[in-house]
Amino acid sequence: QARGDGRGRVVAYDDVLRVRMRERAELENAIRNGLAAGEFVLHYQALVDLSTGAVTGYEALARWERHGHGMVPPSGFIPVAEQSTLICDLGRWCLRTAAVQAATWLRERPAGAPELRVAVNISGRHLSTPEIVPDVEHALAVAGLPARLLVLEITETVLVDRPSARAQMTALRDLGVDISIDDFGTGYTSIGQLQHLPASKLKIDRSLIASTAPGSRELVALVVHAAHAFGMTVVAEGVETTEQLATVRELGCDRVQGFLLARPAPADQLVVVAPR
Ligand code: C2E
Ligand code: MG
Ligand code: MG
Ligand code: MG
Repeated sequence: QARGDGRGRVVAYDDVLRVRMRERAELENAIRNGLAAGEFVLHYQALVDLSTGAVTGYEALARWERHGHGMVPPSGFIPVAEQSTLICDLGRWCLRTAAVQAATWLRERPAGAPELRVAVNISGRHLSTPEIVPDVEHALAVAGLPARLLVLEITETVLVDRPSARAQMTALRDLGVDISIDDFGTGYTSIGQLQHLPASKLKIDRSLIASTAPGSRELVALVVHAAHAFGMTVVAEGVETTEQLATVRELGCDRVQGFLLARPAPADQLVVVAPR
């Protein structure tokens, strides 16, 4: 009888796995078709300089207007896309679309207005392929965007997981684009490692900015201090309250990004609140 139960469980577990695999394959297909059908869009969220209050640029964030499903956030497609080379197709699309948008901002900016940069998130998988460098070059060429106006955001965890990533980052930096370490404080990169990275920007993760645990404030101060010593610009992510804004300013962060100042929005609907 015990054996019967055991078998029952094995069968049930098998079924669950089968269903999961089928669902994943279906989602993968839907993403591929959605990309071909133009269902993906980019929203843009402002990065604001704390000393001047000026917008320095925007981060491009992917959204999927999935037919019959409404707006799907990145958590609904990035993890699945990352399981295959689909993430590279999506990455190429993001690079091209964002570069074209930034070239438009450049062309259409009012006389005397500063040049805006665009930041694109690059997945670790895409970064590890030999295609990443030609993909970035191609996006810049197609858009006619100067390399200095493109920022590539690479999450901290990628550096730990993929040793080849560092060489690729250097090759990208040599194209003239900026590299920004994203979500810093969520992985296990030591502050000392930052010194050896070809990155000019560091984004401190929202979880660390929001943390009220004892020592969090000191940790942010330490990260800012070290990053500055390495010549990096520091961005505080996910600033939602005026208290957080005051804190990150006090701790020496150079730029902020967060709902308090601006929510991600389509390029024709960008609104930014001046920081006080
Ligand atoms: P991320 O690169 O760290 O992007 C910031 C995320 O934080 C965005 O979520 C943004 O909407 C959210 N955020 C910004 N300010 C605030 C705030 O004040 N409060 C809160 N609660 N959230 C805030 P989103 O758009 O859902 O993207 C989530 C993640 O998905 C991104 O994190 C990035 O890792 C990934 N992602 C988004 N677009 C792309 C893409 O085109 N390619 C790749 N590879 N990854 C992407
Ligand atoms: Mg990012
Ligand atoms: Mg981030
Ligand atoms: Mg983040």
